[in-house]
Amino acid sequence: MAAADQPVRKVTIIGGGTAGWMTAAVLSQWLTQIEIRLVESEEIGIVGVGEATIPHIRNLMALAGVDPLKLISESKATFKLGIQFVDWGAPGETYVHGFGKIGRDMLWLHPHQLWLAARERDPSSVKHFDHYSLNCVASGKNRFAFPDRSNPNSPMGDMDYAYQFDASLVARFLRSESEARGVERIEGRVVDVIQNPENGFVERVRMADGREVEGDLFVDCSGMRGLLIGDALGIGYEDWNKWLLCDRAQAVPSASVEPLTPYTRVTARKCGWQWRIPLQHRVGNGYVYASDLIGDEEVRDALLANLDGEALAEPRMVRFRPGRRLKSWDKNVIAIGLSSGFLEPLESTSIHLIQTGIHRLLAMFPAQSFSAADIDEYNRQALFEYEDVRDFIVAHYKVTRRSGDPFWDHVREMEVPDSLEERFELFRSSGRFFKRHAQELFAEESWVQILIGQGFDMRPDPVTQFVPDHRFPWGYRRRDRGRCKPDARSWRVRQAAAAQHAARTGVGSPGKCQLHAALRARRDDTIERLVAGMSQKD
Ligand SMILES: Cc1cc2nc3c(=O)[nH]c(=O)nc-3n(C[C@H](O)[C@H](O)[C@H](O)COP(=O)(O)OP(=O)(O)OC[C@H]3O[C@@H](n4cnc5c(N)ncnc54)[C@H](O)[C@@H]3O)c2cc1C
Repeated sequence: MAAADQPVRKVTIIGGGTAGWMTAAVLSQWLTQIEIRLVESEEIGIVGVGEATIPHIRNLMALAGVDPLKLISESKATFKLGIQFVDWGAPGETYVHGFGKIGRDMLWLHPHQLWLAARERDPSSVKHFDHYSLNCVASGKNRFAFPDRSNPNSPMGDMDYAYQFDASLVARFLRSESEARGVERIEGRVVDVIQNPENGFVERVRMADGREVEGDLFVDCSGMRGLLIGDALGIGYEDWNKWLLCDRAQAVPSASVEPLTPYTRVTARKCGWQWRIPLQHRVGNGYVYASDLIGDEEVRDALLANLDGEALAEPRMVRFRPGRRLKSWDKNVIAIGLSSGFLEPLESTSIHLIQTGIHRLLAMFPAQSFSAADIDEYNRQALFEYEDVRDFIVAHYKVTRRSGDPFWDHVREMEVPDSLEERFELFRSSGRFFKRHAQELFAEESWVQILIGQGFDMRPDPVTQFVPDHRFPWGYRRRDRGRCKPDARSWRVRQAAAAQHAARTGVGSPGKCQLHAALRARRDDTIERLVAGMSQKD
């Protein structure tokens, strides 16, 4: 085989934040024949604020060969069932974007369609949409259990969870795992990048003390600055601040308070929003804001006034630029992490974008010849993912009824990207959702929880009009229900349900009305009962 067809042998990672050490951990687990070096500077440090994740993180940790219990213990992690949104639709309103499934589908009619249709027929027949998601109800009651995959008929099998962890401790933990597998860590500050004068490929980096570190492939995990991809290779950055106004955050840890909640909370504020992430040893907090519209002092005061426990440090400011690098891979440099773009952490997606970058790097691991087709494909997928997540985040701002603050008035009225407007139009006219691309991150459940949770004006699928009232799984009944005869099969199901209910409650031989009541009660309290059986983590 020609040398050009051989896979690259020396990988040099620049940066030792979450991105750098996640990359090192996965590569060292799977590509044991390559030499991996990681350069980081304690003097510069890491951004250190990425604490909330989404369920996919568990796959990444498994791919990295990491023992989840060790990860939880070393990074002081907690379990996360979803994100609680406070005051987003309008002040006083709360909903949860829970992970996992919601309710049961009726063929292609998904639960939100039945919920919308039932609400249209009789608003009093439905409860808050959160009520039909096990993750949301469990969050509200501070309960947690692992999904029960052994019983496919149980809603417990449809639960899902992620971690909330201390970013600095995660980096330290992944470092020890990677070093144990032979990754060489080089401490020091990179001051120069030396490129091949003919083709511009990066050959080595020079450190402040004069040492040089070479590589065939460089993974730029140097954070927002993009030391290699931006400074050396000159790859530009596309700004998305016309849709995402926030460009700063102030972060502060606070003392833990009981109970420990199994979710991240994000509360809308005058000019942005505040996060609250409970960890084992402290709570992470921060206020994300648009610096054009509010002063740093005002943000600091609002942040400190809205902590559950005593502040454990002075608030720390982080500046950022919403957007993405025009190319994540150029020549022999791949940008992973903040060097490839930034989207505010409203849906805890940045660490996930690191994860997908690492997956892609494995899937397209280059030969010495660096195929242009691989590079183009990598960049196409990266672009799609960033735009996909961007649209989901922008939707939270656009779908609000908040008014009176310049920030919220602006985002409510702004024009959104065409890709998002098309999605809104489908939801508006028929509540329908279709995945357009394999790389799409957020499933229908996520979209409908956000849109219904924030009061988006959505009509149900017209086909729901063919669904008779008694088939609604929400306990919905119309006055004329007596004329609606269930078929023999559904009647048997009802009888069985009623018999179960009778056995549980001690009510014997229920009549027809009791059967209806029992059936309704069974459906309404299934989630309650499951949640009551979960262990409590407080
Ligand atoms: C306010 C805020 C909140 C966030 N919250 C979340 C969240 O809840 N969930 C989530 O998924 N993501 C979140 N993120 C994003 C998350 O923090 C990052 O995706 C993650 O930490 C990865 O960062 P990184 O490793 O790319 O960069 P960094 O952590 O900045 O690491 C950069 C590394 O490069 C090194 N370096 C830089 N320059 C040099 C040099 N010249 N020489 C040598 N080394 C150098 C640094 O020392 C450091 O080791 C948040 C981001 C911000 C700004």
